[in-house]
Amino acid sequence: MKKRKQANPWGDSTTAIHAGEERFGVAGPVGTSIARTANFTFSNTREMRLWAEGKNSAYIYTRYGNPTLTVAERKLAALEGGEDAIVTASGMAAISSALLSQLRAGDELIASRQLYGGTYRLMRDVFPRLAITARYVEPDLKGIEQLVNPRTKVLYIETPTNPTLRLVDIQKAIAFAKEWGLISMVDNTFASPVLQKPLEMGFDIVLHSATKFLAGHSDLIAGAAVGSHKLIEPVRQNIIYLGGSMDPEAAFLLIRGMKTLRVRVERQCQTAMIVAKYLARHPKVSRVHYPGLTSHPDHALAKKQMRGFGSMLSFDLKGGLPAATKFCDRIRVFLLAASLGGVESLAILPVYSSHYRMSLAELRAAGVEPGTVRVSVGLEDPDDLLADLKQALQ
Ligand code: PLP
Repeated sequence: MKKRKQANPWGDSTTAIHAGEERFGVAGPVGTSIARTANFTFSNTREMRLWAEGKNSAYIYTRYGNPTLTVAERKLAALEGGEDAIVTASGMAAISSALLSQLRAGDELIASRQLYGGTYRLMRDVFPRLAITARYVEPDLKGIEQLVNPRTKVLYIETPTNPTLRLVDIQKAIAFAKEWGLISMVDNTFASPVLQKPLEMGFDIVLHSATKFLAGHSDLIAGAAVGSHKLIEPVRQNIIYLGGSMDPEAAFLLIRGMKTLRVRVERQCQTAMIVAKYLARHPKVSRVHYPGLTSHPDHALAKKQMRGFGSMLSFDLKGGLPAATKFCDRIRVFLLAASLGGVESLAILPVYSSHYRMSLAELRAAGVEPGTVRVSVGLEDPDDLLADLKQALQ
């Protein structure tokens, strides 16, 4: 097999397994080596001088770059179909550094209203201190023309959204961003590149909490930004100076996780559909939010822009918060835990996790009920998950 330079030359699984690895045509380990080091030697002072003059890109210090991180970055760039990528210490490091690479004091951004709580808080609590204003649009982008003005620089969306799994029409968002000359950014955490590749559709920057599906085993915190070299380089500078660099050990785990991304996501999607259908029929459940169900308001859009419906879903219990807490206290196979995208199925109450300490108006705007339970479907046997749901809902 010859090493090819172009991004994503193979299918997703082959790309995830082979892209970015320096092992083609050389005798060496099959697994990825961890460069467990803070710093790197120069062979002479000439090399040092060239680095200082920006004439060579040697590794010098892991906060600036590290060969194990490079493998993760190349793999992810190839998977998302991007020219460049940076892996970071967390999803929030990638999101904050990407936004701050484009926004200055006095600038505005438009964001879809249903965002991961941390991203929303960054925009609500931190950005005003930097004189950056966020304006919010519903996932259907209705009325977005009224929000844009000459100070608007960025369009930021999440699709599917957390926790109600609403979708933003990617093509519509791109058309709007292009019309107004905005840099478009999308958090692709929930879908993963297996289900949608927004860069290939025209988005500028894709962001990830790589903690979730990309790594896939609930054993590290990580993030990533992918896009053109021109757009990712300023993100890299922010990561270097704000200090959100990834540790090489975490990069190794991320690389290993990505190798099985596609098979995990495909299986998780299948099981999620089984779980969603079961919940939709259950008399104690008032509503299931899963784009794979025909009852979901964005089912048609999901069929159009995604290659599967994902493994995240949420549901509202008729008994509200008391019923939801009882359910969460009774689950055994599903684990009561935050986060998502790992091999273990999880359930969580958004009002006590991603959407904690939000006003009723903020919750309503995000589509979250006090009795909403969010579920991340893992890789357990579907029958065991259904049995657990049955006993916990009894
Ligand atoms: N984006 C989404 C959709 C998330 O769910 C999360 C975390 O839950 C983040 C971003 C933040 O990522 P991290 O926790 O890796 O910083």
